[in-house]
Amino acid sequence: MAEPLKILIVGAGIGGLTTASALAQIGARVDVIDDKPEISVAGVGFGLRINGLRAVREIGLLEKVLEVGHPAPGIDNYDPDGNLLSTMSYGSQEEGLPGCVTMSRLAFLELAAQQALHNGCTFRMSTTVTDVTQDEDKAAVTFSSGDQADYDLVLGFDGLNSQIRRDYFGEKYAPRPVGGVAWRAGLPNRRKIMQPIICQGYGGKIMLTPLSAETMYMVLTVAEEGRPRYDPANMAQIMHDRALALTGGSEFLADALEDVRSAENVAYTPYSTVWVPYPWFRGRVMIMGDAAHTMTPYLGSGAAMSIEDGVVLAQELAKDQSLLDAQLNFMKRRLPRVRAVHDRSIEAMLEEFDSVTPEAFRARIEHLRHDEPIANEYANRLLRMPY
Ligand SMILES: Cc1cc2nc3c(=O)[nH]c(=O)nc-3n(C[C@H](O)[C@H](O)[C@H](O)COP(=O)(O)OP(=O)(O)OC[C@H]3O[C@@H](n4cnc5c(N)ncnc54)[C@H](O)[C@@H]3O)c2cc1C
Repeated sequence: MAEPLKILIVGAGIGGLTTASALAQIGARVDVIDDKPEISVAGVGFGLRINGLRAVREIGLLEKVLEVGHPAPGIDNYDPDGNLLSTMSYGSQEEGLPGCVTMSRLAFLELAAQQALHNGCTFRMSTTVTDVTQDEDKAAVTFSSGDQADYDLVLGFDGLNSQIRRDYFGEKYAPRPVGGVAWRAGLPNRRKIMQPIICQGYGGKIMLTPLSAETMYMVLTVAEEGRPRYDPANMAQIMHDRALALTGGSEFLADALEDVRSAENVAYTPYSTVWVPYPWFRGRVMIMGDAAHTMTPYLGSGAAMSIEDGVVLAQELAKDQSLLDAQLNFMKRRLPRVRAVHDRSIEAMLEEFDSVTPEAFRARIEHLRHDEPIANEYANRLLRMPY
């Protein structure tokens, strides 16, 4: 019998942890390392749409995700005065799956880590890679702790600022700022919203997403150039002021804006994107997830694409083919799909920010009223395509 594949995953984020389970399920021996001391994450919540839900079903995590998550049928779009402009569906239920489930990021990471441990994967935190030397048979990895081990494959799932990408693919694929930022905070769900609501403001938006009957999170996105540093002590007040500027001081969402003032967990994230062209491997070193293709969150799919990457790689590695053929077939399946979602995610962000002048704002409101539900249906169909 052939020896099981030995695989190192660098990065215990959403993609790395779920991929660990996908690979363990096909019999691989998987080690996961992360440079953080413990599993943690910036940002309160996120959503998995049908593509992400299908992928977590493949690794046996769906039931637990449905237990911790909150099913959301669609999104309501409002103007700053609280007039409902349109409702965008996440699509009809298919295969018994809701169109979208929103949940706590940390809860998801903990579930994914438990599942990977249960599947026999090992973890080492506060650890990174300092060197990889490849020959025909193996990748010899030296860790920051000084010890070494040989692997058949090294997967860089180390996110936007990937060290594996920098060291083995070059500086030219460094993240590119795309001119927007997100402010995020967890808040009480006072208005008992059951599905996300978006308030289009002047040059950006406020999105409220329920996590449960008691809690929700606010994501505020706004065009912002440069990379200003903000004093952590003032983050809540700055987020509040940005939100106020977006709504023009209207009463709509005033309760949530007030809660932002006392939020303790404000995360500020300038948006950057990464696109590494074909192929996402150099010999036995591969990059996946945000390390290869960071998108904006406008299709709610960066995490889903990372999970899909791992599921598709496991499917290809399970076939009776060489490692190179598995890598090439992985790329053939992933590249067009990820590129389409990546590009649409950037276009959607730019469309939202184009709403600063009174004329552009009016055009944006009309777009949300009439055209956005159709654009959204395109996204639904794109995400529902088999991967
Ligand atoms: C505001 C916002 C909202 C979003 N909302 C959604 C959403 O609703 N739905 C969705 O699908 N996506 C969403 N996304 C995108 C999603 O968060 C990312 O696409 C996803 O987290 C990528 O997963 P990943 O595993 O590739 O990278 P990450 O989650 O970034 O994980 C990378 C891991 O690598 C580790 N690491 C980094 N460097 C090293 C190193 N040198 N050595 C070892 N370990 C290292 C890090 O500590 C981290 O644990 C959102 C993003 C943002 C910014």
